[in-house]
Amino acid sequence: MTDKKSFEINGSHVNFQNQNHVAAVISDSDIIPSKAENVAVSETLCNCGSKAPEANCGSGGLDKAEKHISEQKNQETTEKYSTLYDNCRLCPFCCQVNRNAGIKGRCGAPSEIRVSNIQKHEWEEPCLSGQGLKTPVKGSGTVFFTHCPLGCVFCQNRQISRRSTSLGREMSADVLASEFLRLQQSGVHNINLVTPTHFVPGIIEALLIAKSKGLTVPVVYNSSGYESEETLQLLSGLIDIYLPDYKYFSSHLSELYSVVPDYQEKCEAALKVMQKQTGKPLFDENGIMKRGTIVRHLVLPGCDYDSLKVVSRLHLLFGKEGIVLSLMSQYTPTGNLPFPELNEKLPYSAYLRVVASAQKYKFRYLYTQSEESAAESFIPVFI
Ligand code: SF4
Repeated sequence: MTDKKSFEINGSHVNFQNQNHVAAVISDSDIIPSKAENVAVSETLCNCGSKAPEANCGSGGLDKAEKHISEQKNQETTEKYSTLYDNCRLCPFCCQVNRNAGIKGRCGAPSEIRVSNIQKHEWEEPCLSGQGLKTPVKGSGTVFFTHCPLGCVFCQNRQISRRSTSLGREMSADVLASEFLRLQQSGVHNINLVTPTHFVPGIIEALLIAKSKGLTVPVVYNSSGYESEETLQLLSGLIDIYLPDYKYFSSHLSELYSVVPDYQEKCEAALKVMQKQTGKPLFDENGIMKRGTIVRHLVLPGCDYDSLKVVSRLHLLFGKEGIVLSLMSQYTPTGNLPFPELNEKLPYSAYLRVVASAQKYKFRYLYTQSEESAAESFIPVFI
């Protein structure tokens, strides 16, 4: 999530109007296959496609065939993906707890999807929300999930991200799919899944349902960057735009602020999978992103030396054009953290040094933020 009035486009490096406009096309082979597609209709069973004998089915035969096949498909999909919670290894923490039995791992998340806010967000990067482009600002359809595996000390969404949060409401895959479709109907440019990692099985179900019912806007996977490669493979063909953070290069910093020493290694492995799935950034004729990977980096107070490393690594991994780089200055001190440097604002001059480094590398797609970006009032009220 980014803050209101935040993004400025560096004119010399971002020129969406001059892009080659190639629409994103996901082929059938990209879509995760369902076993239900191979269900044969037996002569001894109702010709609606259910497994019930015709006499007991009550379907009315072919008139309701599609409904039964769809229900059966959804049931098999639900069973297929929900078993991933039996021995949870959805993120690199690999807790191996049975969330279906109510056991909680590091993230503290249950196996039922929990959602806090669902809203149209107008201040994501311009290519996601439409802000500042020659197109109506339709916004990004953000869905905020509760909990988070990473738990950074400075998290600005801590009300909903902490292990112990009681905010949010439980939501079935069917209801979540309906919410996606409702957002699409409201005209948003995309569906933006905020911190989805620990609910991926339910989200896949919801996306399959929503896509079968007409969801066509791009789906954005908005994450901390601390992701399992295996979990990302499950999402191949379902996600159009990845929006990961690359928070730290230094293992000292990642240990200090997120209690995870291998962040850099896991994040880079995840970014490679994401970028391979999406390919280079693609935009429509108005500059709205259709496909690609946007890597966000929030410059932290006292850590701009680490940010320079992050920028350098991203250039090494993806070159000038492989990703969109979004450098953020919006760090908002909330006070009372046991790290004095994090209770201070980021000096804008430190941020500009990082921007200058990205400019030196000539990133083709580079978003920067204005000095007034950091404001506590921009943090949403969660429910
Ligand atoms: S999603 Fe949660 S329970 Fe599963 S491995 Fe990650 S932290 Fe552990």
